[in-house]
Amino acid sequence: MFRDGVDHLVEGVWPRLMFRIAVFWEIKGVDLPARTLLGDTPRKGSPIATASEDAVQDIQGVFCRPMGRCNTSDGQHGGHPLAGSITHDTQSRTPPESLVSALLDWYKENARTLPWRSDPKPYHVLLSELMLQQTRVDTVLAYYDRFLKRWPTLSDLASATEDEVLTEWAGLGYYRRARNLHRCVRAADALGGLPSDVEGLLELPGIGPYTAGAIASIAFDVATPLVDGNVERILTRLDAYGEDPRKAAGKRYLWGRGAQFHDEGIGKPGDLNQALMELGALVCTPKKPRCETCPWETSCVARARGDIASFPKKKAKTKVRQVEAVAAVLRRGDENLLARRAGDGLLGGLWEPIFGECREDEAPKDAALRVLRERGGVHGGTLVEKGLVTHAFSHQRLRVTVYTVSNAKLDAVTAGEGYSEVRFVRDVEALGLSTLARKLLAVAS
Ligand code: SF4
Repeated sequence: MFRDGVDHLVEGVWPRLMFRIAVFWEIKGVDLPARTLLGDTPRKGSPIATASEDAVQDIQGVFCRPMGRCNTSDGQHGGHPLAGSITHDTQSRTPPESLVSALLDWYKENARTLPWRSDPKPYHVLLSELMLQQTRVDTVLAYYDRFLKRWPTLSDLASATEDEVLTEWAGLGYYRRARNLHRCVRAADALGGLPSDVEGLLELPGIGPYTAGAIASIAFDVATPLVDGNVERILTRLDAYGEDPRKAAGKRYLWGRGAQFHDEGIGKPGDLNQALMELGALVCTPKKPRCETCPWETSCVARARGDIASFPKKKAKTKVRQVEAVAAVLRRGDENLLARRAGDGLLGGLWEPIFGECREDEAPKDAALRVLRERGGVHGGTLVEKGLVTHAFSHQRLRVTVYTVSNAKLDAVTAGEGYSEVRFVRDVEALGLSTLARKLLAVAS
């Protein structure tokens, strides 16, 4: 009995007690990571967030600062990285005040002049943020300008059709963003505009923690963090954070660190978030960061260690699949037979000539006849090969053999597997065509 009591104290109560004391000391600015008290040798700069998940869970009840309702259908925590998690208070390394001041000074001198920055209305921030995901600023500028000329207000865009939005988006890629934008502005318009708080923004379709943080901080001056790829890179390098930043503990760490900067109450929240992203875009770049011009050069742990390339910890690369496919371009007078992809997946909602993957060991011509029949209800026909189109997506590389089709039986034309609509179209530019579809039509002409 006595022995059980000692074991319980040594293995259970004592480490938890020591962990809480360490967390308390860190909040007070005493640089003594929890693992020191738990018996581990602390790695220089290691955050408490690298303690075991059990230990982190254990302190949630003590230092939890929920961000509000989560963006999950079941209403449980998990939508926002800070929802129900430990706070940044447990993770301090370099005191944030000096970092924030240096960062904002740098931003004042170096920020690029961008249209959404000079007029940061909520609708403008939403539009720019969705366009900028996975896309370079130079590319976005023309699209942003075109969208605002055609739909100057959120209500204008809400009253557009999805086809009109997809058509205007054509060429920008990642079309799910366009559909999300459209759904989001429709929902926001029904509410009378975009909500000003993170909680309300997360209720809208297509809005995740990053976009909610951007709109709330930039358009409404709410002191709330955001973490995108740029911020992830800077913060993992600054602290030499050695865990995977895309896992749950890594996300909590980065969002907590971001929130820590806002608690200083220095500068405008939107400037602070944009300064972080700008530093990542201009200075702390993935390759060859310009550390000698960085306002955090003397605080950066990765720089001090001479090991910047190790941060952020890389995720395993996904294998790119090689896909053989066919496209059948069928004309009737001055009309093209086009099909609209069903669903929300890759290229969903966009129009294209009838298109499909070849089966293993299937000749491209046979594949084209089968795809025409199965996906478009077109039977038979004379096929002429017009050329080859290659196109790369993040997860697959396509090689498409393009055929024109004549003398086919068209009395049963109908949308088959994967398409929601198939019809002859005179003005193809009036529909949302993907870049791939444009390439296919160009080769066939
Ligand atoms: S010192 Fe270099 S690695 Fe560190 S944050 Fe600045 S640019 Fe990035």
